[in-house]
Amino acid sequence: MNKSDAMDAKSAPTPPTVLLDHYLKQLKLPSILREYKSLAAQCAQERADYPAYLLRLVERELLDRERRAAERRIKAACFPVLKTMDTFDFTAQPSINQALVRQLAGGEFIDRKENVLLIGNSGTGKSHLAIALGLAACALGRRVRFFSAAALVTTLLERREERALGRTLKTLERLELVIIDELGYIPFSKAGAELLFEVVSRAYERTSLIVTTNLPFESWTEVLGSERLTGALLDRLTHRVHILEANGESYRLRDARKRLARRRPAKNENE
Ligand code: ADP
Ligand code: MG
Repeated sequence: MNKSDAMDAKSAPTPPTVLLDHYLKQLKLPSILREYKSLAAQCAQERADYPAYLLRLVERELLDRERRAAERRIKAACFPVLKTMDTFDFTAQPSINQALVRQLAGGEFIDRKENVLLIGNSGTGKSHLAIALGLAACALGRRVRFFSAAALVTTLLERREERALGRTLKTLERLELVIIDELGYIPFSKAGAELLFEVVSRAYERTSLIVTTNLPFESWTEVLGSERLTGALLDRLTHRVHILEANGESYRLRDARKRLARRRPAKNENE
């Protein structure tokens, strides 16, 4: 209630809009509260009837609510940076199956509890695509969480030390899509590899995983240690999997080379 409303309230009966504002706040309908006056004027001008006015108001509230929920989901997903499908240049990485990426962005693989494996050298856009797919899933209302493989394993080891591993694994189970980025850069300890196996094993047929790696399958043992554990992990991960392979040149390298080429002639002039 602002100052003039308060003064009105003393001298005259409370105007209905004051009450309405109050109720809308109580009912937690901020978009309707913000828009009902301007939309009323607009609807009056357009001679829209009451149900049309109400429909438009409710639609705004619903859209805003969905947008806010998506923002919350994106925040909860802890993406290291935000990358979208729009900014991915498929012509720069022709080995990536664009049709499959677009299909995956539709999110049905999450309903079917299928996994996605992105395999390729460093700089070929694996993390970019994993994040873009994660963002698309957030927009579809999915609970998503991004981890680098190393950070996930470190966290799990810490939780185990704190005797809170069970709780953390339960939290992971409530997610619908878990992204494990950059498997293969750092070999895990025996305990670390076993915990990663635990995550993959619990996710099997329950939670979709997107895993990015620079490693071909035959080298996974080098990172996970045990051959038996690697076999069991790959078995679960690849039972229902979509594989995206990027075998082109590094986008970072290409970018750096282009920048260098642009700089070089200028440098030569000065010399
Ligand atoms: P990877 O995870 O395979 O090592 P990244 O996804 O981290 O590679 O890509 C490295 C950088 O290059 C990121 O900034 C990413 O956005 C960008 N990048 C890679 N490939 C492409 C592409 N095809 N189109 C646009 N940007 C790309
Ligand atoms: Mg990466």
